[in-house]
Amino acid sequence: MSCDYIQLANPGVQKLHPYQAGKPVSELERELGISDIVKLASNENPNGLSEKVKQAIEKEFKDGCRYPDANGHYLKSALAEKFNIETSQITLGNGSNDVLEMIARCFVLPHHEVIFSQHAFCVYPLVSQAIGATLVEVPAKEWGNDLNAMLKAITDKTKMIFVANPNNPTGTWLGEAPLKEFMQKVPKNIIVVMDEAYTEYVTDGSIPHTIDWLSEFENLVVTKTYSKAYGLASLRVGYAVSSEVICGLLNRLRQPFNVNSFALAAGIAALEDHAYLEKAIVVNQNGMEQIKASCKDLGLSFIPSAGNFLTVDYGQNAMPIYEKLLHKGVIVRPVANYQMPNHLRISIGLEFENQRYVDAITQVL
Ligand SMILES: *Cc1c(COP(=O)(O)O)cnc(C)c1O
Repeated sequence: MSCDYIQLANPGVQKLHPYQAGKPVSELERELGISDIVKLASNENPNGLSEKVKQAIEKEFKDGCRYPDANGHYLKSALAEKFNIETSQITLGNGSNDVLEMIARCFVLPHHEVIFSQHAFCVYPLVSQAIGATLVEVPAKEWGNDLNAMLKAITDKTKMIFVANPNNPTGTWLGEAPLKEFMQKVPKNIIVVMDEAYTEYVTDGSIPHTIDWLSEFENLVVTKTYSKAYGLASLRVGYAVSSEVICGLLNRLRQPFNVNSFALAAGIAALEDHAYLEKAIVVNQNGMEQIKASCKDLGLSFIPSAGNFLTVDYGQNAMPIYEKLLHKGVIVRPVANYQMPNHLRISIGLEFENQRYVDAITQVL
């Protein structure tokens, strides 16, 4: 007798859709038989791996047959020093998506509600839906988090609020004053997850570094990643910073060895390579100007962005434009799954990569 395995799955899982990643270069090569492809689709750092990181990874080969340090002691020590916090406040993850999932699984049950913004990073609904919790999507304000509307959405079932600052895929950001006021108003029994995947790109003080707020707000969990400005997307390493108590809970459900030895070593080396990070920021600023200039030339509007990407409004269904760009060997990111069918998200690349996009879009439109 056969069995309907879809019906057997957890109800939350039945409703899930797989995460749609940016199209890999190798896939487009296979599909269209073209080479010389530029990928501006996953907000990756275009500057290659840091040389210091490469050396650190190579040193790990000799013990490559051993399990990594399950506690990530040296990486946590380096992070603790950088942020002036205790190692007992840091939870390491296989990318920050791993910690986002841990945080949700730690606190959220099927009868809870989880609040996040319209156009917010899709991993928040994904991890909450998997648990079977009720998703409360709050309409965005000017493409960003509407903090007052999020406060109004709180009920006695609310367990968690996700805020990305800056937000992906819109690039919008929130300054210190509104965020602090928000934190002061959220009841202490609701966990606020502040996803700061892109804050390294913001150097003018317009975004608060909320790790410094942890002593004031014990319900705050800040997540950060090495995948963007530090250029370690392939290695999968990110972390949460929280109170010791919450960190202790997260570590109870963390998979042992969730961060591999190469990523642990790379994370330490990346913190030491200041020149790499500075260059990443400058290349991003210049590339951002280059893409914005092309928008102005073409009469396209865009959402001002504090990240390493620009989300552009083409004033028409953007999917055919995306497809035409693919045929010119330029991969960008459709965001129709974020209720933004007329937009495409362009990750900032190296100058020649950005130029490939500019030339292609000029021909396509
Ligand atoms: C890219 C991104 C992350 C980072 O994901 P990793 O798992 O660390 O690679 C987290 N949050 C947002 C909003 C992002 O855009």
